[in-house]
Amino acid sequence: VGEQRLIAFQYAANIWGASLQSTVEIRVSAQFTALSCTATSGVLGSAGATQSRANFTNAEFANTWYPVALANSRSGADALPGQPHITANFNSNLGNAGCLEGSGWYYGLDTNQPANLVNLVAVVLHELAHGLGFSTGPTSVTTGMHASGFPNIYERRLFDITANKSWPEMTDAERVSSAVNTGNVVWTGQQVLSAAPNVLSGTPQLTTSPANTTFAVGTAAFGVQLSASQTAGQVAVAVDGTAPISDGCEPITNGASLNGKIAIVDRGLCTFKSKVKRVQDVGGVGVVIVNNVSGAAPNMADDATITAVITIPVVSVSLDDGNIIKSQIASGTVNAFMGLNLNQLAGADAQARPKMNAPNPVEAGSSISHWDPSALPNQLMEPNINDDLSHSVQAPQDLTLSTFQDIGWTIVGTTPSVHFSPSSLDFGNSLVGYGVFQGKITVSNPDGRSRLSVFSVNISGSPAFGRSHDCTEAMQITATCTILVTFDPTSLTPQSGSLTVTTNAPGSPHVIALSGTGVTDLSLSVTRPKRPSRTGASQNQPEVFEVTLTPPAGTEITVDLTCEGAPVGVTCMVAPPRVMLQGSPVTARVTVSVAGRSQRLKSTLRTTQHTLRVRATYAGVSRTVDLPVQLTR
Ligand SMILES: [Zn+2]
Repeated sequence: VGEQRLIAFQYAANIWGASLQSTVEIRVSAQFTALSCTATSGVLGSAGATQSRANFTNAEFANTWYPVALANSRSGADALPGQPHITANFNSNLGNAGCLEGSGWYYGLDTNQPANLVNLVAVVLHELAHGLGFSTGPTSVTTGMHASGFPNIYERRLFDITANKSWPEMTDAERVSSAVNTGNVVWTGQQVLSAAPNVLSGTPQLTTSPANTTFAVGTAAFGVQLSASQTAGQVAVAVDGTAPISDGCEPITNGASLNGKIAIVDRGLCTFKSKVKRVQDVGGVGVVIVNNVSGAAPNMADDATITAVITIPVVSVSLDDGNIIKSQIASGTVNAFMGLNLNQLAGADAQARPKMNAPNPVEAGSSISHWDPSALPNQLMEPNINDDLSHSVQAPQDLTLSTFQDIGWTIVGTTPSVHFSPSSLDFGNSLVGYGVFQGKITVSNPDGRSRLSVFSVNISGSPAFGRSHDCTEAMQITATCTILVTFDPTSLTPQSGSLTVTTNAPGSPHVIALSGTGVTDLSLSVTRPKRPSRTGASQNQPEVFEVTLTPPAGTEITVDLTCEGAPVGVTCMVAPPRVMLQGSPVTARVTVSVAGRSQRLKSTLRTTQHTLRVRATYAGVSRTVDLPVQLTR
């Protein structure tokens, strides 16, 4: 049996090994040992990471715990040489007296286990998934506390609809509340959200008319699958010959009134499948099992002792809902419709975000670290094993691998791509002292079957180049991020640099060439046009200058021109007041005039030699040139 167990274990390990990319070996320490168990329920297995790591090379998020196997995969180095990264325990007592008696392990590598046996490969797949990161890790669901104040990577994808917060955003007390906020904690990672509509079915439901009441239902591991096409029929309560007469545990006595109808049968005293078989035998077209205890509508296990093929659909409802249906029947004819509501994914919220297991009271080790049990088809990472699991860990059967992509695993066989637009950045001739020039590089994942992670964005070469970026979040299928590169030349020579981007895509590190040349400033020169008469401005005769603005080659700037320093009574006008320079010189005309002959003017113009000044301003930088003016009273 040890050899059979090892073969099954290795088979499950191989499935993960073929799915997750890691150049570092992942070691699992596993044993069969006595785990918590009673005659009717028990723990099949338990597992977890042996350590969590934060702030390692290529961590997607700083100050965030990662299971050591994921940290190793990302950093490319083994943080625990020679030691296990995952520990796993499996129940050695399964099927023994006092521990799920009549059950036992199934060691086959297929999924054809008898109904009473538990598929070991599926359980190993499940437990290894916990150790690989499907877990709140060191974060406690009972106290809400973060180890050393750091959230676990898994929490970054957990969102509480009621609190409208992700788990890392919450206080400890808010996390405690969220852990029991049944049906309101969802996964928000993009890979899972993309996969969910391909993995999850519609929600099974039962609707009755004329009341038009819709009930949540449990489903069965036997019988025909519910589908979007509804099974319809009048509803009638099944009666057998022996009290309690509506549990369907003896042959049905009101068969004539059940023929072609949907039968209501109470839970208890015999197996679900045996009840359904008896209804099928008298021509019923469907069965609604009513719970006999309070709580949710139960999911219904198969009964291997009944070999008859069940060809009708069966659902269960809660005790309260069963009583509502019975009271509807008491007041008149009731028709029912059983099927899937395709507008609502089973196990997801209204926005199609898969729900996490959040039972109240909290269950340490189970709460939040599993999907909600309402997921359909049944998922590997539900808290309880279901005997209809496949051994697939990925879409379209299962969401686990998508979850792993969402926490930063790279998936084997899907290679992200990376595209930079533009692929190099040349700032050309850039004015020294003009300010900081900015260029933009857009990073995308064009072929995008798998997640592109941008690990670092660094710049080297001329200190005139700088960068900022929003590429810290690993990129999803259609996302882009932006790297802003700045160029602030301080010298008049060509500058070069490199932008180095490391990613998980082929070709990393990717090097983007940066270039630019600092060029001389705008120059201003003054000339006086030839004039026929004397120089100097007077009240009769304005003085005119020409200011020539010469930009450096290859630049385009817009310059505002003003004249300052004119004494009272003197005007100094520049025309045009704004010029656009496109590489060649432009001349503006400055006109200085004396306005009038008032007493005040005369005293102001005591000195006849004045210096006026033309100021050229562009992008907050200004340059001036003086105008020597002789003013005449
Ligand atoms: Zn589990």
